[in-house]
Amino acid sequence: MDLSNRTILITGATDGIGKVLAIKFSKLGSNIILLGRDSLKLDKVYDQLEQSFPSQKHLILEADLSQLNNESAHEIFNAIAGEFTSLDGIIHNAAILGTMTTLEDYELSRWDEVLNVNLRAPFLLTKTLKTMLESSMLPRIIFTSSRVANVGRAFWGAYSVSKFGLKGLAEIFANELETTSPIKVFNFDPGATQTKMRASARPAENPNSLKTPSDLVDCYLWFFSEESSDSKQNYYEYADLSQKVKAR
Ligand code: NAP
Repeated sequence: MDLSNRTILITGATDGIGKVLAIKFSKLGSNIILLGRDSLKLDKVYDQLEQSFPSQKHLILEADLSQLNNESAHEIFNAIAGEFTSLDGIIHNAAILGTMTTLEDYELSRWDEVLNVNLRAPFLLTKTLKTMLESSMLPRIIFTSSRVANVGRAFWGAYSVSKFGLKGLAEIFANELETTSPIKVFNFDPGATQTKMRASARPAENPNSLKTPSDLVDCYLWFFSEESSDSKQNYYEYADLSQKVKAR
């Protein structure tokens, strides 16, 4: 798949799934906007993109999504508009797990941090950057879901609540945009994947029993394909989408 001249913002691009997507998408020709909170980790990923693919343009956005507000969201808009003429996609990938505990014991400050990063920031970034996507030929917004967005499970607390909320957010954006905008909105549950977040949630699990972030790349690429333009479905899970992608 050729992604030349497409510019894609990936939040949480310094680790796990986001980092692998940044590297793979840039290998296919896209300009990558790396958003993360850790400047050293951002620089490392940026260097990897620059060394291998010098003809493309990449941008670092250092931002702590737990602190995002209207002003910093507009700074992000201006930084992107200063470098690129359009934006072709946003992958809302950044998230934090928070604390695995009962709701009764959940610290309010931690609750707010999780909701801010996982739900409030994708809302504010989407709302702020939407107009930039509208000049793209195949604009896409991908939200990242989780199994605990569908069923409330003890101890998953704010993380689960944030993913329930994100499912609603993605459905509302999809519904509002389907008749008024070329932007396609998807919500994707990548399923259990070998990353530091999964290791924190399931410390006793053997990571080698899980798929790696690289196994997800074809699913994410499908969202950016012309084929997905005809999809009436907004929510996808890895198990189903990977079969569909393999069967093509
Ligand atoms: P991960 O390895 O922990 O990576 C999360 C990324 O988000 C990191 O780059 C992290 O930055 C960034 N991030 C966290 N807080 C941030 C903040 N305040 N501001 C900016 N960036 C921030 O997690 P992952 O497993 O790749 O998860 C990626 C997505 O997949 C998440 O939405 C997650 O909910 C979802 N998911 C994962 C699994 C799984 O099994 N792994 C399953 C279902 C859904 P740092 O490098 O600074 O920490």
